[in-house]
Amino acid sequence: MDTLLSKGLTKVLDAKRWLRYKDLDPLFEFINTHDVFRSEEFGKSEEGRPLRAIYWGSGPKRLIIWTQMHGNEPTATHALDLLIQSLVHDIKVKALENKISLALVPMLNPDGAERFQRRNALGIDLNRDAVAQCSSEIQAFYNLLDQFKPNWAFNMHDQRNLFSIGAQNKSATLSFLAPSPNENRHISLERKASMQMIGALGLHLEQHLKGHFGRYTDEFYPKAIGDNLMKAGIPNILFEAGYYPNDHLREKSCFLIHQALLKSLELIVDEQWQYTDTESYFKIPENKKQLRDMIFRGLNYRGCTMDLALMRVEMPMRRSGQLEILHEIVDIGDLSAFQGIEEHEGGSLQSERDLGINQIADFTWTGARNYTFKNGKLLQ
Ligand SMILES: [Zn+2]
Repeated sequence: MDTLLSKGLTKVLDAKRWLRYKDLDPLFEFINTHDVFRSEEFGKSEEGRPLRAIYWGSGPKRLIIWTQMHGNEPTATHALDLLIQSLVHDIKVKALENKISLALVPMLNPDGAERFQRRNALGIDLNRDAVAQCSSEIQAFYNLLDQFKPNWAFNMHDQRNLFSIGAQNKSATLSFLAPSPNENRHISLERKASMQMIGALGLHLEQHLKGHFGRYTDEFYPKAIGDNLMKAGIPNILFEAGYYPNDHLREKSCFLIHQALLKSLELIVDEQWQYTDTESYFKIPENKKQLRDMIFRGLNYRGCTMDLALMRVEMPMRRSGQLEILHEIVDIGDLSAFQGIEEHEGGSLQSERDLGINQIADFTWTGARNYTFKNGKLLQ
């Protein structure tokens, strides 16, 4: 794996998946001690946590990037940390200071982050609140958009491990989408620009991505932020950080997003994205949901031969402040259409209770080696 250290950058945030509001303190201390940045509170979350934006640069091109509008999707917040280090330490990037203006919002949903959940404290999915704007987070966010007036917007997310590149067994380590402005999936000028930008980023990242690169379905989501920004004439891109083999901390996708962000600054400043055609976007394989974390194939259970699939679930443990990894049964039967990130053949399964889907794994599998799951936890 490419190491982040090889780029000579040191992150200030702790490398962890459960990234909460207070975990951002070192980042804001860094911002406050470097006068190329300015930070500002632009509103409060439902539970009163300040929503903060970081500004850099004074140029006419204006890019806004926000992360963790889904509280349990921290990878891009780590990538913003790296971007912020580049804005201070990388001479090539520093040279763009009077050509582009950035507004960076690390953690738009701090209440959700506190609970390690997708939605905000009221249970609202902020990425479906673009029209009604019920949540204080989205109200504040729209005020920020009105003030900042971006001409580019990047909407940063994490995607689940089940996303594959097409029907292959390759995980989608990074996926992009140029959202649709309407049900007809119209390619407006803004959407075309977003597609061209994604195409250019894909070409740039291919050396690192090695085919782990996907395109999200462009179905129109009438309440989603990206679709509505597109409708309002702001070119925007959905980034989805995903799994790379043996990288549950998602450092690979963090590295790739950092690389994509650096490249996009250049592309925006020089308007080089215009020289990539939309074909490069459509050539990117569409994501499918073909992967499961673990598949036991052809196991024997009560005299029947069948397959069983598990997914990892990251459960926040309030007392310890740590995520615990539990395993959930997500499918049973003939799973030949799916691929396991980890696969085991044959063997037999013993369970004290009936198996069922959406059930926490509680069984022993005996095969080439033994696996015992107790209350979802894999006993080592
Ligand atoms: Zn998300």
